[in-house]
Amino acid sequence: MTANIDIKKLSELARVDLDETTAAELEGNIADILSYVASVQEVAGAAGEPQAGALRNVMREDTEPHAPEAYREALLREAPAVDEDGFIVVPPILNGLKIMDTKTAKIKDLQTALESGEETAVSLAEKYLAAITADTTESFLGVYDDVLEQAKAADARRAGGETGPLLGIPLAVKDNMLIDGKPVSAGSKILEDYRAPYTATVIKKLADAGAVFLGRTNMDEFAMGSSTEHSAYQVTKNPHDETRVPGGSSGGSAAAVAAGLAPAALGSDTGGSVRQPASFCGVVGFKPTYGAISRHGLIAMGSSLDQIGPLTHSVADAELLFSTTRGQDPLDSTTYAENTYSKPIGAPKRIGVPRAFIAADGVDPAVKENFTTSLAKLEAAGYELVDVELDILSEALAMYYIIMPAEVSSNLARYDGVSYGLRTDDADLFTQYVHTRRDGFGPEVKRRLLLGTYVLSAGYYDAYYRTAVRARRVLEDAFSKVFSEVDAIATPTTPAPAFKIGEKSADPLEMYIQDIFTVGANIGGIPAISVPSGTTEVDGKKLPLGLQLAADKNHEATLFTIGKDFEAEHLR
Ligand code: GLN
Repeated sequence: MTANIDIKKLSELARVDLDETTAAELEGNIADILSYVASVQEVAGAAGEPQAGALRNVMREDTEPHAPEAYREALLREAPAVDEDGFIVVPPILNGLKIMDTKTAKIKDLQTALESGEETAVSLAEKYLAAITADTTESFLGVYDDVLEQAKAADARRAGGETGPLLGIPLAVKDNMLIDGKPVSAGSKILEDYRAPYTATVIKKLADAGAVFLGRTNMDEFAMGSSTEHSAYQVTKNPHDETRVPGGSSGGSAAAVAAGLAPAALGSDTGGSVRQPASFCGVVGFKPTYGAISRHGLIAMGSSLDQIGPLTHSVADAELLFSTTRGQDPLDSTTYAENTYSKPIGAPKRIGVPRAFIAADGVDPAVKENFTTSLAKLEAAGYELVDVELDILSEALAMYYIIMPAEVSSNLARYDGVSYGLRTDDADLFTQYVHTRRDGFGPEVKRRLLLGTYVLSAGYYDAYYRTAVRARRVLEDAFSKVFSEVDAIATPTTPAPAFKIGEKSADPLEMYIQDIFTVGANIGGIPAISVPSGTTEVDGKKLPLGLQLAADKNHEATLFTIGKDFEAEHLR
């Protein structure tokens, strides 16, 4: 179908004021994206009724008038005061410290050093803080003001006889996870001076285990992007070639681990944001089953897709962080109980390869070659490779670019200048909404707000959102069928190695295609891991590539087993 876009009406519904140039540009982008995603209409036919109910964006109703002016006073009275403080800087006392080789140290190595007394939590924290000070990748947005206090507390716990694999281990945190009292901005100007009013469940669990949080890492605004170029603050560089992007949206976390600024980091993955930057930076990135890890205290992007996941130097470290953070949480109703899904029976043996999907045009020949080598390594490790038919995977991206923006437009309705962060000074409530959102959100966020508003709007809801949710059901059924035949599915993580900074900025669809191999796991709610699989040389630089393994819901153990076997074979 041809999309009929009334950009003025759409921007009103989405509550964002647009200047004429932006409006014209977004109109063109949205038309292109809508024609790309229209293919879901062909696959939706096989599905029954959608499982999910209609989304409702409380900020807008196509048929109702705007919020009455009379509410303004009451709303503003409830609004929290804006904190004036800026970012926290690394304490100068740390300059000049000798930097140990933190580049490749795994959590397990640090644990050994802590247990033997060779290092303390404080000495480790100092080394990583010094590395952050000397860093040129711009991975961090800020270092927390109490790192050494956290480390001292961990040392005191150890002195008191406590032990544990994470006691005294430093970690980096993506800038969309809340720690009570600390700045958190989701890479957005709209939350520039915002401080978290409570602590995320994942952070609580890791703090209980004795982890030391170093600081918050750069990200694409509200986790929308594949390059970290959409951050409102800075562009993070790939440590393997600083003229290239680290991937995104957890690019700061991936680059921080790869550059040795933290032994491990937390990221969030809505369509690939942990795995894709992990692949670009040569580290392990893991996205658990939907609902395995609590998202209480994670700034929401797409609620039916978001999962928190670790970025590490080894599969074993990813497993450690996953087992520490997983579990049902009364504060997140999407987390599931231990016995919800079956567990894998026996050791994994069979790995499915959706060859037709991988052979597609647009996949870099170096990626195809590396993938073939990876498959040979899996065979050498004793796995049986089986061809599987999963053509519907190529439609996952189209489903994603309907479902995700719909959820984004709903989740981001809360940034209205009243309850959070930035607030413009306007006389009436509606103008304050649209100006706050105009000034506070960057172009990528605006694009998705408009797209999401469009696919949920009265006239197009059935054709787009409802159809995509039906198509999602077809994909879920296809995964179930495949996982009755094989233990895991192998694909490359990305269609190409890291691209140049600025290379894909002009055409949003070019950027979206980066997620072709990763979004399927989010749409299907299944776990997936990216493991470094070697490099390809481009312009004299060795750029990392990754192997992605996906398994059935709750079968993360399968991924850790295969991942470790692959790692061992790869390092042989
Ligand atoms: N790159 C994808 C996007 O732009 C995925 C983002 C994510 O996983 N948070 O939406």
